[in-house]
Amino acid sequence: MSNFDTIGQQLITLSRSLGEPSRDLAILGEGNTSAKLDDDLFLVKASGYNLASLDEEGLITVRYSKLKGALDGEPVGDARTREILLNAREVQEGSKMPSVETYLHGFLLSLPDIMFVGHTHPTAVNALSCSVNAQNAFSGMLFPDEIVSCGVAVCYVEYTDPGIVLAQYLRRKVLEFVDRYDAPPRVIVMQNHGLIATGKTPTEVENATIMFVKACRVRLGTYAAGGPHFLPLEHVNRIHTRPDEHYRKRLIG
Ligand SMILES: [Zn+2]
Repeated sequence: MSNFDTIGQQLITLSRSLGEPSRDLAILGEGNTSAKLDDDLFLVKASGYNLASLDEEGLITVRYSKLKGALDGEPVGDARTREILLNAREVQEGSKMPSVETYLHGFLLSLPDIMFVGHTHPTAVNALSCSVNAQNAFSGMLFPDEIVSCGVAVCYVEYTDPGIVLAQYLRRKVLEFVDRYDAPPRVIVMQNHGLIATGKTPTEVENATIMFVKACRVRLGTYAAGGPHFLPLEHVNRIHTRPDEHYRKRLIG
């Protein structure tokens, strides 16, 4: 099997799993996914396809080198955004269009340790991301298993226009995160929008997603009980560097 076949199949399996409607992570056309093929090429869900029923038809191979210039330059209008996306397709045939969030997928997959990206709109995450307490709710971590599966901190991105503007702003926030924590974020919350989970494997993306959804339900409960008590930073760092927690992380993926 070629690289495309193996990674494509892994991405389809991850997409269908994240899109299963009863899991309340994404319904209808919500969410999108991507996977790195090599230093330039990546697979991303095409616009208009559902995660739950995704197959090879719903994936497009895109060149990051064709998108990068737009991320570095001034924001462009909707028509130009679409034109750049169409030109970035490896096969310039047909009308299949990469998702408008392809820009941010391309950037995230260009970072070390990110091979798969899963973007969903879980109700528990958005109950907080759409609330007046959004900034506060994602300003700390609550319990050890959240740190094991979701990393030392949440990368929080205030609401901005989807497409290139969002990708540029998200890139700035993610690079600030990398400077501060010396690793890319495992979970990114986009205000009034949803969740992005990253990982080296589909399992890491799946686990970061479901553990973070649980952690958001816990956050919601804490607001009914007086507000969240975040773990102090020394405990967060201790969990993150404990050999037994590393071992546990390797076991669960
Ligand atoms: Zn979305």
